[in-house]
Amino acid sequence: MAKTISKKTLKAKGVLALLLVILLGGLTAGYMLTGRGAAAEATPEAVTEAPTEEPTEPPAETTTAAPAETTTEAPTEPASSRGLGLVQRAQDGETLTVTPTGDNWAVTYIGLQYRLPEDYVPELAAAVEGSAEQLDARVAPSYAEMYAAAKADGCTLTPYAGYCSMQRQSENFENRVQVHLAQGMTEEEAEKAAAERVQPAGASEHNAGLCMDIGSASADFVSTKEFTWLTEHAWEYGFILRYPEDKTDVTGMLYEPWHWRYVGKEAASDMHESGQCLEEYLGLV
Ligand SMILES: [Zn+2]
Repeated sequence: MAKTISKKTLKAKGVLALLLVILLGGLTAGYMLTGRGAAAEATPEAVTEAPTEEPTEPPAETTTAAPAETTTEAPTEPASSRGLGLVQRAQDGETLTVTPTGDNWAVTYIGLQYRLPEDYVPELAAAVEGSAEQLDARVAPSYAEMYAAAKADGCTLTPYAGYCSMQRQSENFENRVQVHLAQGMTEEEAEKAAAERVQPAGASEHNAGLCMDIGSASADFVSTKEFTWLTEHAWEYGFILRYPEDKTDVTGMLYEPWHWRYVGKEAASDMHESGQCLEEYLGLV
């Protein structure tokens, strides 16, 4: 019996062992399957994530780029069409020679790349009777008219600096460059800094006699009643604030509340209405 029992026990043990092996084997297989399953699941996830990220990026870029282009183009379009034919655009590094003649003489664009001929001298006239300051003879009557209207409103538009000769302009520019050189700037830096305030000869509207520095060439002018009067009425006489505070990046010039440029009544009226500066009006930007 004992033998039989032991044989039976052995058999039973063998069956148990077999069952264990099967069980363990099953578990291992199950574990492996789960492992494989997890790995198999992870791969498709990684694959599906990647393509969803990639296509979302380019459309996002195109959608932001498209409206930005249309918004920047929209306001410049009417300006360019209005300015078409009024001015020739200078290419990078190019300097054009401009002369205030012809039908559009009053909106002649004068600047670093748009210079008057070296020997340019306009026909001159006193800005107002008795003043030593002169303007282009075609502009002086409008200034005198504006001066009289302001006077009637209790404002004195003292002509501080009108026409400036080429000779004096180059001296002014050179003096400014010297000041910046003394501050430790290089020659290139000094000329760039000087050009923000004083243009080289031929690049200033003062050389054409088309503008007037009124009152005093000082920032304090902004707080005078004369300045307030000019911002309200100058356009009626064909004058504009040439270098406004909010357009310094367009004009390339610092804010000059005293510098008023004659552009003619039509252009001044248009610019007063649209809020454009001369560069914008002529479609140069
Ligand atoms: Zn000026």
